[in-house]
Amino acid sequence: MALDPSIVKRLKQWPYREAKQLEKVLRRRTPKSGVALFETGYGPSGLPHIGTFAEVARTTWVQRAYEIMTGQPTRLYAFSDDMDGLRKVPDNVPNAELLTEHLGKPLCDIPDPFGEAESYSGYMNLKLQQFLDAFGFQYEFKASHTQYRGGVFNEGLGRVLDNYEAIRAVILPTLSEENREAWSPFMPICESCGKVYTTRLLATHPERGTITYICDQPYKDSIPACGHQNEVPVTDGRVKVGWKVDWALRWFTYGVNYEMYGKDLIDSARLSSEICRILGEPPPQGFFYEMFLDGQGRKISKSIGNGMSLDEWLTYGPLESLSLFIFKKPEQASRLHFDIVPQHTDEYLQHRAKFGELDEIKQFGSPIWFIHPDENPTFGAKLNYAALLNLVSVLNTDDQEVVWGYLKRYDPDAEADKDVIDGLIQRALNYFRDFVLPTKEHQLPSAEMRPVVDAFLAFLATYDGADGTEIQNAAYACGKEAGVNLRAFFGTMYQLLLGQPQGPRLGTFVALFGVENTLALAREQMAALESAQG
Ligand SMILES: [Zn+2]
Repeated sequence: MALDPSIVKRLKQWPYREAKQLEKVLRRRTPKSGVALFETGYGPSGLPHIGTFAEVARTTWVQRAYEIMTGQPTRLYAFSDDMDGLRKVPDNVPNAELLTEHLGKPLCDIPDPFGEAESYSGYMNLKLQQFLDAFGFQYEFKASHTQYRGGVFNEGLGRVLDNYEAIRAVILPTLSEENREAWSPFMPICESCGKVYTTRLLATHPERGTITYICDQPYKDSIPACGHQNEVPVTDGRVKVGWKVDWALRWFTYGVNYEMYGKDLIDSARLSSEICRILGEPPPQGFFYEMFLDGQGRKISKSIGNGMSLDEWLTYGPLESLSLFIFKKPEQASRLHFDIVPQHTDEYLQHRAKFGELDEIKQFGSPIWFIHPDENPTFGAKLNYAALLNLVSVLNTDDQEVVWGYLKRYDPDAEADKDVIDGLIQRALNYFRDFVLPTKEHQLPSAEMRPVVDAFLAFLATYDGADGTEIQNAAYACGKEAGVNLRAFFGTMYQLLLGQPQGPRLGTFVALFGVENTLALAREQMAALESAQG
């Protein structure tokens, strides 16, 4: 059942904005496939990565928004472009010499260097599906070669042939002068040597549904051509089309209604849209998202290797924290770097803790509603990741049980969220080991700060409560009374206790670690630092 328009009006998150536009379009015409059809594309020359996850996740969020708003079902095709040729041997695969002799062939016709699947792209396609399944995405997988060779694209390929010059007229102005004459939408696959990168078109014969090609275009020194020449039908996978036309061919054939893509593909999407119209179907609604940047704000590129892998993120933060990062502002370029993981983990926990208290409409707008499609998760613990990270940091242990001992004392209800917290502890331990420990340096308070620190420790020595807010207020009072810069005072405490210039709310930390433990730690650190100074 569709949501009431008065409710829809209040839904503002970007997936609703996208879904509303799509609903407007599909109100005027029935989708070609019968339902609102979404597509995501995948290039199977390499393994799926964080960008693959982001694109599929975001697409499913628009689907979810569309479904709840309209009460109508949707479908998602995950399309793998496995008829693409392999131009050079990737660095990170085994059996390079096996691949060398197959360079120039479509990925689906090259043996699997890992020896596990029927082809190179078969292996990558399998990895993609395992990847998507692991995250619970609902999709229908489409491999380019089964579509071409199974005749699914035949009607569209006939239309490309019939509209050959019109399609050339779309693409030629985007090419340099010397490349224009040779450009053709068709890329015949040589029947003799099997390569797609060495052929060129000699003539089209729309009246017979065929083209004539020759295999005489060696690629640099690495891919020889065999000289074969023939006239072949454009159908059943004998010929593929170049990628901008290929995109349009899919849209036309399936009747794709929605597809998103990275900002780097805006121009390609515009050209593919024009070609889709020439083929006889309106193009899908598009949405471009910004690219991820690295820690220094540079574009992430596979060749520099400055990106962050999905596994790396999951080493330090739960999947849901990554989902939240991807959910926020897809139109803005965001830094994808390990230092944002703790912050996103805590934002996620806050959203999760609040979710149950929201009314239904506000729940529709919460990231939790998108990130957890089939459940209403709760989180009642008083903890967060930042506090855990600091606890782990002072405990100097990798024993989860020891950490739990402290957590239970601080928050007896924490065990209700044991599954979530266990995951957080493990990740906090990883984060501490890799990023905090190498930079940890305890420092003695300066002469100016020493009396303030002593005053705060004197308070702790007489305090018999365990209330984070009371402790925080006492710390403030000590700083204020001494007239020192409060931020500098808290910095001094973190540097003494944690060996870091910044930290969590001090009161929370003391309550979590324990008043006596904090006092003992501060005294031990000061004694050790003083004796090191001699
Ligand atoms: Zn050939």
